[in-house]
Amino acid sequence: MDLGISALNYVSSIKNGEFTVEEFTSKSLERISQVDEKLHAFLRVNDLAIKNAREIDTKIKSNQNVGKCYGMPISVKDNMCIEGSKTTCASKVLENFIAPYTSTVISKLNSEDAIIIGKTNMDEFAMGLSTEYSAYGPSRNPWNIDYVPGGSSGGSGVSVSANECIASLGSDTGGSIRNPASFCSVVGLKPTYGLVSRYGLVSYANSIEQIGPMTKTVEDSAFLLNIISGIDSNDNTTVDNKNQDYLNNIDAGISGKKIGIVTEMTNSEGLSTDVLNATNDAVKTFEKLGANCEQVSLQMIPYTVAAYYTITSTEAGSNLARYDNIRYGYEFDSSGFEFNSYISQARSKLGPEVIRRMILGGFVPSAGHAGKYFLKALKVKSKLIAEINHVFEKFDFLISPTVPIQPFKFGEKIQDPVSFMMIDFNTVTANLTGIPAISVPYKITNGLPIGIQIMANRLEEHSLLQTAYALEKTVDLPEVPV
Ligand code: GLN
Repeated sequence: MDLGISALNYVSSIKNGEFTVEEFTSKSLERISQVDEKLHAFLRVNDLAIKNAREIDTKIKSNQNVGKCYGMPISVKDNMCIEGSKTTCASKVLENFIAPYTSTVISKLNSEDAIIIGKTNMDEFAMGLSTEYSAYGPSRNPWNIDYVPGGSSGGSGVSVSANECIASLGSDTGGSIRNPASFCSVVGLKPTYGLVSRYGLVSYANSIEQIGPMTKTVEDSAFLLNIISGIDSNDNTTVDNKNQDYLNNIDAGISGKKIGIVTEMTNSEGLSTDVLNATNDAVKTFEKLGANCEQVSLQMIPYTVAAYYTITSTEAGSNLARYDNIRYGYEFDSSGFEFNSYISQARSKLGPEVIRRMILGGFVPSAGHAGKYFLKALKVKSKLIAEINHVFEKFDFLISPTVPIQPFKFGEKIQDPVSFMMIDFNTVTANLTGIPAISVPYKITNGLPIGIQIMANRLEEHSLLQTAYALEKTVDLPEVPV
């Protein structure tokens, strides 16, 4: 049994009777117990997984209707709620939090007979890009365990890359699906804002974040998007997916398509030569496939990281104010505290990055400062949207490296918060503008992965996936070494 198979191959193998759901699930659990001590992709494994698997096997054997997932094991980032079980956001503040309801994406997966195999590690409250900010210790890159797996959905990336499960769901506020997808060599899709319900996703910066699939193949990404996208009455920002079948004609090719190579993302200060070389190579590949590639400049891009952190910290400051140990939290002896010292004591359980964001998020929109920071950031966002709209009149897609650098060693980058934030340079544009973006594994250089990012206009996931598929078909990458 090959634990590295794609979701689509898993479904056909189950249908052909090559193995049962229980057999596959128990092998996956075995794999997790073998490798996860080292990799730490999971914060918790579902102890009902085998029971769920047996139930699905019974349905299959007795010819009942079986959902599209046929019991495939899928992991989920630990910021999506499942009723009656823990959702910690990798924070000590939510160490004992039991979710009172289930997020829409997980209900949708359950109704298609997926098995939620476990909850994955992440940077605390999804703030970060390496999982070094998890309060439960980092995840490790399966390509080389001395290196970070990316983040914040790092555990999700690792779990898919290391064949601990078939696929995963991550969330992406400024790159948190695409960055670990790139670092772990899996496919990561950040859908159009509103295409996937955020109901039951613990908010960090809700005006821009999205849930999306992290998978072994582009087809699997389309397969999962078919399941999780669409209107949800519990999330008013959702849009109609028009019953699109994202798998339909996925092999249509990209002949005649116009692709813009984002200049600012291919000549930025922090860009590594290996990543640039891989990107130039991808451009040649796109041209060979019949696309026309041309440089395109977006003037607002140099300001996007600053705008992104200003806007997201503001939203985080308000979203995280609820962790005051009154409505959520842990026990501590409150005697002798007055209100302010009680709140600071309650918040002292938050990690350093979350505290930094909350302080920043209190300051930048405050009276007397908002004009200089928050409102300016919103202006950058509006101008960027105008630029993007204009660019998509001429181009079908934009491309760039997903991340300007390859995975780095633990502790190597985290000391300097500003240059750390700059690692998000290529990913935040899609979030600020709401457009979809995908990271496709493209190369393994010096034993570590490099992903290529493709962006498309709003709700153009179908053609985006066709383009990603065309690129994916040209690459042949080695097996993950763990
Ligand atoms: N690194 C970015 C941040 O810390 C992105 C995180 C994310 O997409 N959730 O905000």
